Amino acid sequence: MQDLEEKRGKRRRLTTNAINRQKRIAKRAWNAEHLLKQPHRFAKHHALDCGRPGCMVCGNPRKIWKQRTLQEKKMMQERIDYESDSNLE
Ligand SMILES: [Zn+2]
Repeated sequence: MQDLEEKRGKRRRLTTNAINRQKRIAKRAWNAEHLLKQPHRFAKHHALDCGRPGCMVCGNPRKIWKQRTLQEKKMMQERIDYESDSNLE
């Protein structure tokens, strides 16, 4: 039971920290002030995205446009560079 209480306390603390972090961001943003009336929405929603899953502006480009992520692009570029270098030798 002690262990459960500790886990629950940790979970609540992390949620509160996340909410406070998003509240700080929302206070600075011009379009997110209306969200401060219901701060617990920030438990599962970031301050600067609109919350619509298929949004063209703030959605994940991998999901919406089927683009590669920056890490994947970088890795592929490094691979191309490596292969072109090994062909020169
Ligand atoms: Zn959006």
